[in-house]
Amino acid sequence: MLFEEIRNNIASLGKEIAASGFNLGTWGNISARIDDDHFAITPSGIAYETITAEDIIVIDLAGNIIKGNKKPSIELPLHSAIYKAKKNIKAIIHTHSVCCTAFAIARKPIPAVCEDMIQIVGGQVEVAEYFLPGSNELALSAITALKGKTACILANHGLLTAADTLDEAYKISQIVEKSAQAVIYANSMGGAIELSQSDVDFMRDFYLNQYGQK
Ligand SMILES: [Zn+2]
Repeated sequence: MLFEEIRNNIASLGKEIAASGFNLGTWGNISARIDDDHFAITPSGIAYETITAEDIIVIDLAGNIIKGNKKPSIELPLHSAIYKAKKNIKAIIHTHSVCCTAFAIARKPIPAVCEDMIQIVGGQVEVAEYFLPGSNELALSAITALKGKTACILANHGLLTAADTLDEAYKISQIVEKSAQAVIYANSMGGAIELSQSDVDFMRDFYLNQYGQK
């Protein structure tokens, strides 16, 4: 059953992300769309190392729990609002990786300087305006910051990625963290050089339409 497959996939990705060091303790959250009206999301306050498929909550876009007996992540409104606003999004990952958090606390966008990040995100990673975790305002500011992009920084908080598969959302999380780290290093050598919008557009188009075995 699709519900169970998605719950399994989220639980195993949670373990992989925990092993990566992107999230310490129980912070961060993962969700995946099941169909037009349902998605599955990680529970609140359970360490990813120990998470099982049964801990993953299946919920509808009106907020009713369909399956699972745990309390969903505090960021449920954030995930739910993005699935409602963007029908093409099928997976969302929110992480607290260190270099993305550095940009989040400085409230600075990650500039369009690394080609891989430009290809996979579509340009610089914008900062969503600060609102408290779990608030509807945070959800709306994240949707604005995600316009035309697959990732955004949540101010004073961390990174959010949104894609058409869990694997792609995790790959974006990894590439953005690597790029954030590289920009911080470059800042010790006079700063990174940003690419032009036409170069950004070319690389994004290449990634979407020609990259890999297409
Ligand atoms: Zn968080």
